[in-house]
Amino acid sequence: MKKLIIATGNPGKVREIEALLNGEYDSIMTMKEAGIKADIVEDADTFLGNAAIKALTVSRLTDADVLADDSGLCVDGLDGRPGVYSARYSMSGTDEDNNRKLVEECSCIPEEERKAHYVCALVLARNGEEIFSCEGTCDGRIILEARGKNGFGYDPYFFLDDYGITFGEMDPDIKNRISHRANALAAFKRFVEEN
Ligand code: IMP
Repeated sequence: MKKLIIATGNPGKVREIEALLNGEYDSIMTMKEAGIKADIVEDADTFLGNAAIKALTVSRLTDADVLADDSGLCVDGLDGRPGVYSARYSMSGTDEDNNRKLVEECSCIPEEERKAHYVCALVLARNGEEIFSCEGTCDGRIILEARGKNGFGYDPYFFLDDYGITFGEMDPDIKNRISHRANALAAFKRFVEEN
């Protein structure tokens, strides 16, 4: 029986991965569903580093494969901020305050430096060892006024020139095909199919 545990508390992520992997694993569960509790301190300074901390910590507690992700937004003219601090960029860490801080910082830099990309790092661990890792990205730029109510986090401010809209305005089905997470999951799927 091939089991995969996703090192996340977010059941939405699990269902997304389940749909994508269609049948490569016999069972796919969150840590909670698998009855695993772990205090994980994500203190690495890279997305891959944080995903590895999560995957390896949980993998030491189970014989199932463990997949962990870490993601965030990097703005060129802000030296890559918010980066690994994307979820807790502002003091409160709410989307509203994070976005307010992003707009404040971006309004101090020229438009051409507001180029940005989302990153999603994935790490797969087995028996306490890393067996696969990858990063998916998605390019855009930050605009200073929110557009659209779809998505989450920084999406209303993340504008994609190829589409002429923000992630906040994009149909979620399209976002799920072109996003950083989709790109990383596609690489993960290729690995699982080949191994
Ligand atoms: P996590 O990796 O799911 O913990 O996400 C980290 C943070 O990155 C989130 O709280 C958001 O602030 C940001 N982020 C990651 N992916 C996205 C996205 O697709 N849209 C908007 N914000 C995102």
